Formats: sequence, structure tokens, C-alpha cells
Amino acid sequence: MIVDVHTHLPSHQDTVPPEDMVTETAMRSGETVQLTNSIADYLRDMEAVDKAFIFGIAPRPWLPEKSVLLAGGWPEGKNHNDVASETAKHAPDKITPFMSLHPLDPNVNDEYDRCVGDLGCKGIKLGPNYQDFDPTGPEAFALFARLEADQIPIVFHQGTSPMTEAPLTYAHPLTSDKIAMAFPNLTMVLAHLAHPWQADCLSVVRKHPNVWADVSAQFYRPYSFWQGMRLFHEWGATEKILFASDWPVTRPQDNIDHLRALPKFAKDHHLPTIPEEEIEGIINRDAVAIMGVD
Ligand SMILES: [Zn+2]
Repeated sequence: MIVDVHTHLPSHQDTVPPEDMVTETAMRSGETVQLTNSIADYLRDMEAVDKAFIFGIAPRPWLPEKSVLLAGGWPEGKNHNDVASETAKHAPDKITPFMSLHPLDPNVNDEYDRCVGDLGCKGIKLGPNYQDFDPTGPEAFALFARLEADQIPIVFHQGTSPMTEAPLTYAHPLTSDKIAMAFPNLTMVLAHLAHPWQADCLSVVRKHPNVWADVSAQFYRPYSFWQGMRLFHEWGATEKILFASDWPVTRPQDNIDHLRALPKFAKDHHLPTIPEEEIEGIINRDAVAIMGVD
């Protein structure tokens, strides 16, 4: 079974009108990423996997109109959590909605109740850098305590981002180490192998049984990809890596293909390899069971 633990929302419910089309080039260091897409586009790209977790990123309460990967082409009145839930209804056996909350939102507990109740959310996505909250602060810790008690897993954005106003300290894996020590029963996924801090990421996931890493958004920087994977291999930590795409930044099939191409990359560049069985282990890892999402 292939599980994509990291997909973002389709920007539009229906076909994207030409005047709404948006692309950007910073995320993939010069390559063009199509940021606008429909539910149909999402479902087509998810044909490559058996399960997918989908989420938005809750905006800062003091800047409600500004968000990362905005789903702007949906009827007004629906927030990112409604969009995750409604998209999942198009393939309920395959797609699981996750909520996203902001710990400093005065309504955080009401929205939590609505998400796990009416909307059927089974996990949560947080991007403390994008959301500009201190993940070791008292408000965040209150949220983590509730998530741990309810056995709801977190997918954390980790690593750098091109956004100037997103504090990097909040997305560094060493910060997540503090959270993991305070909440040992909380399941956490550190996204993107915390690029370019893959060594710090493996340092954290290897010491915490309930902390995992996701492999999304690596392959389009081929040397960093190989280096991160080789580090995880040498430290015996590839079994802590979950499959993920970061759609729409990349498609799951492209991630599968590039993971399987790593041994060839190593050979072509006279570098030590990453064993095929470890690569297949990542692609086929049962994140549904690991994260307790069912
Ligand atoms: Zn992402």
C-alpha cells in the first residue's frame, strides 16, 4: 500500500478559469510549479497512491487573508478545513482530511471540535514558520497536550522556505526534539526531511519512536536528495521515512520514480548507493497504521 502523507488542497473546486492560473518558481529553485488546480486534477494525480492525507494551513489570526497555498477558488464561507473535508468526500476510501489550526486563534478549541466532529479530520497539519507561532510556547503546548490525549498525529512543516516572514527557528527539527521530549506519545511527522537540515532531522527521528520524517519535495534537488537519503541510510534511519509528495509542488508518481532512480544516480556519479529494499520500504510503508489514521 502506498500512502501519501502530505498533500495540499486543490485551489479550485472546478476547472480553473484561465484568468485565475497562478504559477511560481521559488519553491523548486527555478522550476515552475502550477499552484492552481481543481479537485479533478488532485484525484488524477492521486491515482498513483492508495491513500492520501490532505490539508490546508491555518492562517495567522491577525492576517486571516494571507495563507500559504491558498484555496481561493472555492465558494466563500468555506475555510481550509471545509475544503479538505469536501475534497476527501470525492474519494472517501482513499483520501483522509486533516485539520489545520492556529494555537493563538481564540477559537482554536471550537474549530478543533468541529474538525474532528462534523468534518471527520483524523490528523493535523502545522507550519509554525508559515503560521508564525512558537511551537514551544504555552498555546502550542496546550494544543499538543490535547492532540496527544486524542491520539491525533501532526504533520509539521520542517525546513526552510522561500517566505521572508516565516521564522526558520520555528521549523527546525531541533525545536521539534523539545516537543517530542515533552509529548512522548504524540505522533509527529517532520516534513521534507527538514531540508536542508536532513542531518538534524535524522538526529531527532532516530531517538523518538513516535517521530517520523516525510520524503516530500526532495527529488528536484538531486544531490541534496541523495545526500539526505544516504545520511539516513548510514544512521539506520530510513525505516523512519514515510512516503509523501507535497502536492501540488510535486506529484506522487514523480516521487516514486525518482526514489527508484536513486541507485542509478549514485552509480552515474560514483557515489555510494542507497539499497533498493530501503527505497521500496519507504514507498510502501503503511503510514495509516503508523500514524493511527483510520
Ligand atoms: Zn507542504
